[in-house]
Amino acid sequence: MKVAFFRAAVAAAALAATAAPAHAAPATADAPITEADLASHMKILAGDAFEGRAPGTDGEDRTIAYIVGEWAKAGLEAVPGSATPWLQPVPFVETQALSGSATFKANGRDVALGDDGIVVTGRDASVALAGLPAVFVGYGVDGAGQVNADVRGKLAIMLFDNAPFGDKLPRYRERRQMLADAGASAVLVIATDAVPWDALRESVGSKSMRLASAGAGAPVSGFLSSAAADALFKAAGQDGAALREAAKSPDYKGAALPVTADFTAASAVRSFASHNVIARLPGARPDGKAVLFLGHWDHLGICGAEGEADRICNGAVDNASGIAVLIEVAKRLGAGARPDRDIYFMATTAEEKGLLGARWFADHPVVPLSDITVALNVDTIAISPRGTPVATIGRGKPAHDAMVRSVAAGLGRKIDEDGEADAFVQRQDGWALGAKGVTSLMVGGSFSDMKLLEAFLSGDYHRAGDNFSDRIPLGGAAEDADLHVALGRAFADTRRWPGTAE
Ligand SMILES: [Zn+2]
Repeated sequence: MKVAFFRAAVAAAALAATAAPAHAAPATADAPITEADLASHMKILAGDAFEGRAPGTDGEDRTIAYIVGEWAKAGLEAVPGSATPWLQPVPFVETQALSGSATFKANGRDVALGDDGIVVTGRDASVALAGLPAVFVGYGVDGAGQVNADVRGKLAIMLFDNAPFGDKLPRYRERRQMLADAGASAVLVIATDAVPWDALRESVGSKSMRLASAGAGAPVSGFLSSAAADALFKAAGQDGAALREAAKSPDYKGAALPVTADFTAASAVRSFASHNVIARLPGARPDGKAVLFLGHWDHLGICGAEGEADRICNGAVDNASGIAVLIEVAKRLGAGARPDRDIYFMATTAEEKGLLGARWFADHPVVPLSDITVALNVDTIAISPRGTPVATIGRGKPAHDAMVRSVAAGLGRKIDEDGEADAFVQRQDGWALGAKGVTSLMVGGSFSDMKLLEAFLSGDYHRAGDNFSDRIPLGGAAEDADLHVALGRAFADTRRWPGTAE
């Protein structure tokens, strides 16, 4: 964040707050949120001027200024005690691979794998490693989930697929990090038929982002195509199929190969802060419990190759729609009868990079997590028309579930009980809070009509086509926005919702 911008945004927020008229007598009912209300915000947030809202870009500055301005108009206030009012800085490291090369010797003789079968990237700006002994580690973990081989100072060659033993063994990213933590100098992952080689190559070549606090990986990491791995094993006098078969045992200890590897890699490494926007509507009769609304503001930024007509992934549905809803919900709750409890609103960064802003908040909460009686996440909400039943992601706490049913029924909404929405629980910010014990729900129609949702996910989702247009159905989003106003009122009502543990 540029200091000048930050000051300007906060000054604007303060001005808006002081300029707001004193609250009139509370209205008896909240004015309905309309399709036009939501469209007005989505047009701006998903406009090309916001450049797809990538963290750490000018698009972030514009997005934050807009959200802060609108929430200030709604009557939200900065969270007390924050060094940076309205904003929670989230430190990131971004790595862009510039070049990488690998050469191998088996039994002292050069092995030619060709450029097509291997791609490597360096952790630091410049990496050069020579003569690393290679070890094939299978899945990299044993049946107990522990690193299964001595990889210190070595090249570890690991399988991508999930291990066929053990129920809850880590996926390949975590296994790769475990090998790095165990001292591996390089980790190459053997691609699988399930993930196209071209897609893997491309993912390595593009920018990657991690929390500065997260494990940084081995000095060199990369992928081998299945064919390249087999060629390397063969040069080492081994059979790839036999190695893969042996690795299926939970007791597999890896196989040292008579192979050494040299690597060079160059990367552009940048440290920067992105931001969660966090604000509060102070309660009229606070009792120490709080409601948290959240939704991610970020999207994928410039996503198309140079020369393509539309290079910006604008993220109109994902998730300008959710932020639009959170702006209007804040305005209704700020304008009507003041709820008993404090209500927090958070727009998170870097959801698209793995829920990173939400994870940072969960590790550095500005309100004790145990005080949050419910978190309501709003993501990808413009999918379905009015009249769509209400599904809830994150069900399982009977009192919470009963409250959602009661509030939805009170608005004449039907309830979707088929549980199909549960499949998305790990793919949304609420998961990061749920992992820390906060009851986190995602409520609405978007995850109820699976045909409509799948049509979006297999269509414009995460593509340049997710632009704002009249084709986007906003009826369901408007209806869900009203539902969130009512949910906020219900969960913030100390008489209606005691907020005790279940
Ligand atoms: Zn997304």
